[in-house]
Amino acid sequence: ARGSLFQAQKMEALGGLSSGIAHDFNNILTVILGNLDLLRRAPEQRRERLINNAVQAVEQGRKLTQQLLAFGRRHLHQPEVLDLNRLILGMDDMLKQSLRGDIRVEFDLAQELWPVEVDPAQLQIALINLAVNARDAMPRGGQFRIRTENVTAPGSDLEQSVAIAVSDTGSGMPPEVVARAFEPFFTTKEVGKGTGLGLPQVYAFAQQSRGSVRITSEVGRGTTFTISLPHTQAQIVERQRVSHDPDAAAR
Ligand code: ADP
Repeated sequence: ARGSLFQAQKMEALGGLSSGIAHDFNNILTVILGNLDLLRRAPEQRRERLINNAVQAVEQGRKLTQQLLAFGRRHLHQPEVLDLNRLILGMDDMLKQSLRGDIRVEFDLAQELWPVEVDPAQLQIALINLAVNARDAMPRGGQFRIRTENVTAPGSDLEQSVAIAVSDTGSGMPPEVVARAFEPFFTTKEVGKGTGLGLPQVYAFAQQSRGSVRITSEVGRGTTFTISLPHTQAQIVERQRVSHDPDAAAR
């Protein structure tokens, strides 16, 4: 029953995703078409601007397809047993690059963290997505923090889990944004800046890992995303390929 429920949720997500894509692409094509049409009759001095508008829409379409490809690749789920602290420390440079600006980066990593079994490439992409959002939420700088912790919750779905809490001291999210944040294509960013595919990737990663993700946020103070992943009994294999591969998240 659990499998079919999962399947139903996947189909629902896919349905939402397809209509979202269709909607976005339709808007982009409308902009291109409109500008090309005007170009036909436009006087010389207006042409440059119309061409620029069309080119911008094409660029946006390209960005969208790139993100969709990355989103689609999550189906290649390749879990490995690994030490999250090590993976996070291995991402130090990559995270600092994504954050830039006047943002302090802090790691607060639990000792003897339990191993988890997740796809390291997907986790890296998720953390980069969260870092980019944190940066956008802190245009005047602030603090970005990643905390890891072993969590025991008797009687819950995940009795033993590892939590990764990713926090910023940025703008925060009002409840109506929190409620829709994981929806594919939901964005509050200006056209061409946000695609609304960052958090859906984080959500899909958590689901695929049989974990969860939740948001706590306060407007004007900041936001924390907490990803919970099940503790695995399997042993860590002595080969953490991805933590030494800084390009993994870009692929
Ligand atoms: P995008 O970043 O392209 O808009 P996301 O799915 O990553 O898409 O995020 C959806 C929305 O959630 C953002 O547009 C923003 O409104 C909100 N959001 C996400 N992360 C944060 C954050 N750390 N602080 C404030 N708002 C955020």
